[in-house]
Amino acid sequence: MASGAAASRADLARLSGLSPSTVSQRVEALISEGLLQETGAGKSRGGRRPRQLAVPTGGALVGAIDLGAHHARLGTLDLSGRVVESRLLPVRIEDGPEAVLGALLDEIAALVPGSAAPVPGQRGDVAARGLRGIGIGIPGPVQFETGRIVSPSRMPGWNGFDVRAFCAERTDVPVVVDNDANLMALGEHHATHPELEHAVYVKAGTGIGAGVISGGRLHRGAQGSAGDISHCRVLADPGPLCSCGNTGCLEAVASGAALVTALREQGVPVDDLTGVMRLIDDGDRHATALARRAGRSIGEILAVVVNFFNPQVVAIGGRLADCEPLLASMRATLYERCLPLATQALLIERVVAGPDVGIMGAAHLVIDRVVEPA
Ligand SMILES: [Zn+2]
Repeated sequence: MASGAAASRADLARLSGLSPSTVSQRVEALISEGLLQETGAGKSRGGRRPRQLAVPTGGALVGAIDLGAHHARLGTLDLSGRVVESRLLPVRIEDGPEAVLGALLDEIAALVPGSAAPVPGQRGDVAARGLRGIGIGIPGPVQFETGRIVSPSRMPGWNGFDVRAFCAERTDVPVVVDNDANLMALGEHHATHPELEHAVYVKAGTGIGAGVISGGRLHRGAQGSAGDISHCRVLADPGPLCSCGNTGCLEAVASGAALVTALREQGVPVDDLTGVMRLIDDGDRHATALARRAGRSIGEILAVVVNFFNPQVVAIGGRLADCEPLLASMRATLYERCLPLATQALLIERVVAGPDVGIMGAAHLVIDRVVEPA
């Protein structure tokens, strides 16, 4: 229903293979729960005009948080996955999980209409105000079944933190936690390529990760670490030391954080990734050479992924996706290193769903895991 494939009871019966009476029964149950509504009469195919059904756009909402190293994008979305409200807030990840997540959950509660402003730090009553669940993206590895963060880089104080248990004490709706690259993959896939079965979405910002769509569904693997290419080796020893303790990892060579470090080592004063991007835009040769090397490194790892997995599309998102020299080198390396059969029809593109892509993915996660099973 939310995908737009079906608009009436007859469509649902045809698509699900269930009998019309079973479909009717279930639709009535969903309408009485407020999860579906009738929106008027549709076109007749001979006979009575079918009553149109839609996921209600007013009322029920899901909350979504896409946490980054310096900012969090958060918002509310309706049950069709459309953004109702979204905003960007500065965060200091080093303040630790309780302070950061506590404040973001309060912000979500404040976005849900109805009742007085929530008391910070107290368990909210958001369920009564129509919130069905909250999806949270974390910029580090998440064990999906438990909602626990495992060995993140650049997130001091977050290792082993049980995000889901913490949130369960602070809010009365179900919370689903995943890594940010998986949420970007879900958001972009729903928005841009819902018809494709096999896709790889790379998130290249301060860190590097990827989300994998296989057979039309997000593939997480056994523990939730599928698609995490950050510690694949691109350089033999001695390469730059990585946060994981190994050398030559993709993240230590090609992430935004690695570009900042490498430029500083060359004596170029630069504060952060924004500064690096500005240098590249200005045609600085050191920064541009590093961006090209990063693109080749990402391309080398993706070539293995593409040969192994044979996707229909590889899309790159995150802030480094705006870096033209990086993208060009990545593309060239992919074509050079892949089997012709694997690249013949392969789309290599940018993620285009915009800054809300992570919260859109978070909402789809909540809708698929919480709202639809209910
Ligand atoms: Zn590493």
